[in-house]
Amino acid sequence: LVQLYQPLNWFGTYYRMLQQNFIDMEKMIQLLEQNQSVHDSPEADRLIVTDGEVVFENVNFQYDTRQKGLHNISFTAPKGKTVALVGPTGSGKSTILRLLFRFYDVSSGRILVDGQDISKKTQTSLREQIGVVPQDSVLFNDSIFYNINYGRTSASKEEVEEAAKAAQIHDKIQEFPDGYETKVGERGLRLSGGEKQRVAIARTILKNPPIVLLDEATSALDSTTESQIQAALAQMTMNRTTLVVAHRLSTIVNADLILCIKDGVIVEQGSHDELIARAIANNGEGVYYEMWKQQIREERGDDATTIDGSE
Ligand code: ADP
Repeated sequence: LVQLYQPLNWFGTYYRMLQQNFIDMEKMIQLLEQNQSVHDSPEADRLIVTDGEVVFENVNFQYDTRQKGLHNISFTAPKGKTVALVGPTGSGKSTILRLLFRFYDVSSGRILVDGQDISKKTQTSLREQIGVVPQDSVLFNDSIFYNINYGRTSASKEEVEEAAKAAQIHDKIQEFPDGYETKVGERGLRLSGGEKQRVAIARTILKNPPIVLLDEATSALDSTTESQIQAALAQMTMNRTTLVVAHRLSTIVNADLILCIKDGVIVEQGSHDELIARAIANNGEGVYYEMWKQQIREERGDDATTIDGSE
């Protein structure tokens, strides 16, 4: 009876933990389940990545028959550049990231990485090349070292520390009771949202992938944490092709390309300056322009909006 009871009890605890605290892990598990719908074709060979250029070519995708999804998505994320996805909740931004990670296959069109159609390549070889930083990162109930080292288990202690330094979390770890051996997670030291995100960034820097998918946190952070996160993100995205679901004005304005998504369609694309100039030439009308003004109102307060973005 004890033998039977323990796993059940464990499962109950685990399940409650998922429900209450690890919403992101729940999502992860959902994604893994969904993932079973994607299969490698028998002829699939390995993706060879040289630059990490990402191209979406007339991509259409539906989750189900209710027409939600993506319609005719085309854009290029050149090697090492940052593409910001902006638009209302439910417009399809995360779906674009999920398709590139191949949680689903496109209904029509193609996604190319360095000229190769990802649907014809093995999922493993694709995912080896991609780092993912979700909004709410999950930590394992293990040491902080383990949590970073997970990005590349063959890495040395020095490499783990280098990654932690680049992610602006090394100094914080030094203050923990057992340094890098400090247990974190549900049963250990609880880290703040900003700290957890920097651990995920350190993990990704250690993994060193040419492509990064980032879901930027929506929550407001204090200014020290915010500047540490920005510095960590700058290190992570430097020389890596980055697709970011962007909520922060600084990220959006500095992106090489902005895709403005509405109802599964790219309604406008260009750099910040191009999109603003286009709107001004069009009597101040533009979807991006409206979103940008809204973002400024949210981040800086109502009276800060001017036509050219100056204060
Ligand atoms: P965003 O990231 O812009 O908030 P998403 O890409 O998550 O938007 O979602 C786009 C649309 O697809 C939404 O209408 C959403 O409800 C729907 N959707 C997302 N995930 C699923 C799913 N697993 N099954 C069915 N519909 C989904």
